[in-house]
Amino acid sequence: MENTPASRRLIAVKVGSNVLTRTDGSLDITRMSSLVDQIAELRQSGIRIILISSGAVASGRSELKLPAGRSMDCVDERQLYSAVGQAKLINRYYELFREYGIPVGQILTTKESFSTRRHYLTQRNSIAVMLDNGVLPIVNENDTVSVTELMFTDNDELSGMIACMMEASTLIILSNVDGIYDGPPASPGSSVIRVVEPERDLSACIRAEKSNFGRGGMMTKCHIARKVAGEGVEVIIANGKRERILCDLIHRPENLVFTRFLPRSGASSDMKQWLPHSISFAKGQLELSHQAAQELAGETARSLYPAAVTRVIGTFERDDIVRLITPDGQDIGVGRISFDSRETRRMLSGQDQQPLIHYDHLYLD
Ligand code: GLU
Repeated sequence: MENTPASRRLIAVKVGSNVLTRTDGSLDITRMSSLVDQIAELRQSGIRIILISSGAVASGRSELKLPAGRSMDCVDERQLYSAVGQAKLINRYYELFREYGIPVGQILTTKESFSTRRHYLTQRNSIAVMLDNGVLPIVNENDTVSVTELMFTDNDELSGMIACMMEASTLIILSNVDGIYDGPPASPGSSVIRVVEPERDLSACIRAEKSNFGRGGMMTKCHIARKVAGEGVEVIIANGKRERILCDLIHRPENLVFTRFLPRSGASSDMKQWLPHSISFAKGQLELSHQAAQELAGETARSLYPAAVTRVIGTFERDDIVRLITPDGQDIGVGRISFDSRETRRMLSGQDQQPLIHYDHLYLD
């Protein structure tokens, strides 16, 4: 684990539904209580923690116990169970942390809340103000109101976005396996990959199937971990069902089996951290010539000028996110554009050579 002094470290801990629930889907209070004990201990040593906790849908399902044979639309089901289950989940956390005198704050968010910079900054500020005042932020997706097509893939994705947004030093994803295996986890020949360097390709090792109660699987975990590590945050995937896993990861990692994604060095600007998360909200496209695309991807940071653009596709406003594509439709990245689509089209045919996208507002794949 990295060497930041404990007093300044900020760690995001993501706990999956499979860690928090028993096989019958009910909340595993013993497990929750053990995680709470460990978080309290880590806070005592000066580490700041943000908890991203799943378990709302699973705990709502076990609370309501609807009559067998009753079929419900899956959106209705998620909304109903999460509404009931989130209340139960946060209430449990409140009670457990209260024993340590730790106040908790609840953040229920949606993917859309990351779509505009203003929302993004508001969210960041609300978590920062909690941390500054000794409150433990507990984050979950607001499943009750989130729109299906715009949902986070799972809470792994959400935890990655929170860790990057808050510039955490480490994101710990607790799952019900020891880490990423180099083959089928049940097969005796497979073992846990201990360290993943930024360039390493893991596609051959990953299974696509998902676990019982959560939405995520190893494939998304890996994808998110790589992306988050690419933004300079160390990512650990470890087994949340092991006793004292959190404390041991921090204080005695040498005795443990887990997967660690090394962070890429060189922190990116706050704007650049937001941009990759807002891709799904891009409003239009700018087609660049092959040569311009190559130049933009070069070593030197460059802004995007009208001369590089061959076509403007769609309608957008000033400050919207636009995708950059090559003439054969390949995505190159995204950026926040300084002009609306009408003005941009006009600039393409004129002499005006102001940058359409400043290099600080560009994110290239
Ligand atoms: N937000 C969901 C819940 O709390 C979990 C999503 C996931 O499985 O990652 O139940």
